[in-house]
Amino acid sequence: MGEKVTLDKIADKSVFEQKYRYKNKIGDRADSKIRQRKYVVESLCRDFSDKKATALALRIMNCSASQKCNQPFCPMCRHKKQELFAKYVIDKFGSVSADKLRLLTILHSVHYNPLDINSDLIKKLRKDMDNLFDKIQDCADDNIRFIGAFEIDAIAGDEELSDRKVNTLSALGYDKDAKNACFLLHFHAVMYIPSFQNPKYDIEREIRKYYNGSHQVDFTDLHKDKTHDENLHNMATYMLKFRLQHSKSVASDDDEKQFTRTQYSSLYSYPIAKSVVMAVDRCGGFQGLITRRLK
Ligand SMILES: [Zn+2]
Repeated sequence: MGEKVTLDKIADKSVFEQKYRYKNKIGDRADSKIRQRKYVVESLCRDFSDKKATALALRIMNCSASQKCNQPFCPMCRHKKQELFAKYVIDKFGSVSADKLRLLTILHSVHYNPLDINSDLIKKLRKDMDNLFDKIQDCADDNIRFIGAFEIDAIAGDEELSDRKVNTLSALGYDKDAKNACFLLHFHAVMYIPSFQNPKYDIEREIRKYYNGSHQVDFTDLHKDKTHDENLHNMATYMLKFRLQHSKSVASDDDEKQFTRTQYSSLYSYPIAKSVVMAVDRCGGFQGLITRRLK
């Protein structure tokens, strides 16, 4: 950690790429991962007086095969974690029939001050979800189970959102007249739907009663054209994508729904990227964001 970071060093691509271990591990995708890492480090190092951000950049920069940084925005560590997480999800849900599984998305809140997104907030939202699922559990024959993760998306101040999205997000704190960037905290999970004592009990309706904003909750079936393991793998990696790009969906204005079809467009600006990276860090990284209920 004694190495001094300078912008020159960051700009010198060879510093990154020579010591980089991607090429022989992930082949063709290495170039984009190398670019991603450079972009993350650059976004964290716009202001060297910010010691926290600079230290994080240094950890990511010095990540090596023998000393992994385990940071969500380190492309190599993220890739590794996504694959491990996918194995874990397949281990837990691989033998469950697909019609009992859903991808659950809950939009939680929009924040203009990224400092408001921290581990205390995550703890509170987890507790809210727990209380809701405890209540639903009372009506079920077997246990509700899920594996998920919180995620932070940024919306640029000048981003054009669909009317529907404006409507949905306004109930969660979005102000369409504010010209500042804001951050949407949300949650995705692979969820096992138990059977209920009353066969007419509708778990989706109960979740929507609690999170009652329009389109605040989404329930997506697994894709019919993929194998079960492919579906679980895709959902697991989707939950830990830690993207730094504004999302635009292909089919409709509903980019939460198309979990394998989200099209990525422009990169976040440096200040926005830094806000997202630091918010994830405040929340405790992978372990702070991953949330499960598996009893
Ligand atoms: Zn790393």
